[in-house]
Amino acid sequence: MRYVSTRGQAPEMDFAGVLLAGLAADGGLYMPQSWPRFSAGELKALRGLPYPELAAKIIAPFAAGSIEYIDLLAMCRRAYANFAHKAIVPLVQVDTNLYSLELFHGPTLAFKDMALQLVGHLFEHVLARRGEKVRIVGATSGDTGSAAIEAVANRKNIDITILHPEGKTSEVQRRQMTTVKADNVLNIAVAGNFDDCQDLVKAMFADEPFRAEMNLSAVNSINFARIAGQIPYYVYAALNLGAPEREVAVAVPTGNFGNILAAWAAKQMGLPIAKFIVASNRNDILTRFLDANDMSVKTVEPSLSPSMDIGVSSNFERLLFEFQGCDAALTAKTMADFRNSGKMAVEAPVWQAIGHQFKGYRLDDAATLKEIARFYAESQYLADPHSVIGLAAGRDCAPVGLPVIAAATAHPAKFPDVIEKAVGSRPPLPPHLSDLYDRKEIFTRAPADLHAVETLVWNFANRNQNA
Ligand SMILES: *Cc1c(COP(=O)(O)O)cnc(C)c1O
Repeated sequence: MRYVSTRGQAPEMDFAGVLLAGLAADGGLYMPQSWPRFSAGELKALRGLPYPELAAKIIAPFAAGSIEYIDLLAMCRRAYANFAHKAIVPLVQVDTNLYSLELFHGPTLAFKDMALQLVGHLFEHVLARRGEKVRIVGATSGDTGSAAIEAVANRKNIDITILHPEGKTSEVQRRQMTTVKADNVLNIAVAGNFDDCQDLVKAMFADEPFRAEMNLSAVNSINFARIAGQIPYYVYAALNLGAPEREVAVAVPTGNFGNILAAWAAKQMGLPIAKFIVASNRNDILTRFLDANDMSVKTVEPSLSPSMDIGVSSNFERLLFEFQGCDAALTAKTMADFRNSGKMAVEAPVWQAIGHQFKGYRLDDAATLKEIARFYAESQYLADPHSVIGLAAGRDCAPVGLPVIAAATAHPAKFPDVIEKAVGSRPPLPPHLSDLYDRKEIFTRAPADLHAVETLVWNFANRNQNA
């Protein structure tokens, strides 16, 4: 499989190249040159397979030419081996036609583990073959950092440094990062806020000599390998609900648009998904777009579902590219105008075509609390403040009679304060994290200063020479 940039000015690459590169050199996002197709018969043959095997079969055509199937299968098995649920992604019925697809049984209790656990193995595999070593650096306000650390902890040829704003993440989030036992992990608590952390990471990437010497890399959400790792669970769930003979709808709590884009990719591959419901909190740029073709940037407001607090959904560019007929020049122009004006100009026919498949939904904080209490009372189902927006969206927006797969993106125990406010008690952490508060934390403090942070990263990279 070859990959092209949505902006058309970066070299084509294979899967391994896209994995290591992340963003395309022209600022665009990599997309497969064509979508692999599975016939109804081929899809049916996947029904009943253990999740890692199904995942390998779905991802294989994307990795073709880069990674042997036998290796991919082994990596899928290892990636999902330490999930806390035997089904990996259990599908739980919540209402007559409403199903919660639980994507939070991985090590950090959020759906990002689904792709990142696999991406960690893919990195190790590709780097070993190339004889290369990378140093991943990233900034986090909470969730992404722990999922990235868990994904690459103890993987060979990779170091990871995550910057978090000291005292500004929740204790669960901080401990999920700082208690991981692995000597390739460096946590830095920065005296500053999340923006300071992000600016420091950008400055390290912009420091060419440093970037080159350290071979810096990132595992951010625009990496196509992450999208690929999110397609299989939609296939798994839909097959369990009667696809390919029966259509389904999906409802997805959305931030950067990566998760729901993976569902759309599943449709291109042959899965009969009739409707895509984009669920958001008060940060509703996508809902405003779908309702009224108003993709205009507003200030991000904090909400009870912080992982969906975004101003711009970076993966939307991929959908735009597809609906604009894979015209990279047009996509590049649309994105440049968007950056300059703060409002995306999408032609009416393109907007209508998107609206034919996608529907927006929004829930504010007060309604989020009410819905948590309501699903708990009516179905004894405890949903976290992200997942519940997807469930409510599925219940309220799905076409009549179709089963809805609502993506449940975080474990309720990750947000004990919100849950307590909604239903009056705090959910316990699952067994594999029950001693989280007793584990030893390891991190280093630094001022919000580029030289100080680069020195820490450099010393960490050279730790064995200095020993
Ligand atoms: C990242 C995240 C989301 C948003 O997913 P996107 O792929 O960015 O749309 C939703 N819920 C949770 C819990 C997340 O961690």
